[in-house]
Amino acid sequence: MLIAGNWKMFKGPSETRAFADAFDSPEGVDVVICPAYVSLAAAVEGGLTTYAQNVHWAPEGAFTGEISAPMLRELGVQGAIVGHSERRQLFGETDEGVARRAKAALEAGLGVIACVGESEEEREAGQTELIIRLQVESIRDAVGAHERLVIAYEPVWAIGTGKTATSDQAQEVHAFIKGLVDVPVLYGGSVKPENADELLSQTDVDGALVGGASLEVESFTAICRSAARIRS
Ligand code: PEP
Repeated sequence: MLIAGNWKMFKGPSETRAFADAFDSPEGVDVVICPAYVSLAAAVEGGLTTYAQNVHWAPEGAFTGEISAPMLRELGVQGAIVGHSERRQLFGETDEGVARRAKAALEAGLGVIACVGESEEEREAGQTELIIRLQVESIRDAVGAHERLVIAYEPVWAIGTGKTATSDQAQEVHAFIKGLVDVPVLYGGSVKPENADELLSQTDVDGALVGGASLEVESFTAICRSAARIRS
C-alpha cells in the first residue's frame, strides 16, 4: 500500500521542515510526499521519501521553468508525479508529453506516479473507459509495466471538490486500468480520513494520492494508518 501526499503549490521550506519534524510514518505503509520544487531539499533532509510534482523529459537544455530527472536525483528525490490533471488542464500537457516525462524519469532511475482520469462531462457522456484507455495506453506503450511505475486514477470531478468516487466506481476503473497495464493503481480525489477505509478496502485499490488532506499531519497520518490497518 502506498500513500502519496501531493502538496501542490502549498508549503515552502520552513513549513515542510515543520511537517517532517511532526510526522511519524506509520509502520506497514509506504509513504511519499510531493512538495513544490523549492521545498524538495527540505523534505529530503527531513527524512521524507520525496517525489517531485513533475519532471521534464530532457536531461538538460533550454526549457525555462522545467526540472530534469538527473537534477531531482542529485537532490535525493526518489520519483515524480507526471500527468496530474492540473498540469493537463491548466498547463496544456498532453498524453504524449506525459508519456515522455514518465519514460525519462524511469530511465533515470526515479519512481513515477502517472495520473489519469476523466472529467465530469466525459463521465456523463459515457466516455470514462475511452479516456482512461487513451491515457493509460500512451504511458504503457512508452514504458510497459515498469517496476517503478504506479498509476493514479484521479477522476477530475473528484479533485479538490469534496466529491469522491464511490468505492464501486473506483474499483471498476481500477480493475479496468489493471487490465491495460499490470502495475499498482492509487485512487485520488478528495480522499480524507472519513472515506479512506472504504476506498482502500477495494481489491484493486493499492493506495491513495492525497491532495488537501495531506497538508495537515493529523489527517495525513490518519489516512496512512487506514492503509496500514487494511493491508495488515
Ligand atoms: C490531488 O491533487 O492529486 C488530489 C487528489 O487532491 P484532493 O485530495 O484535494 O482532491
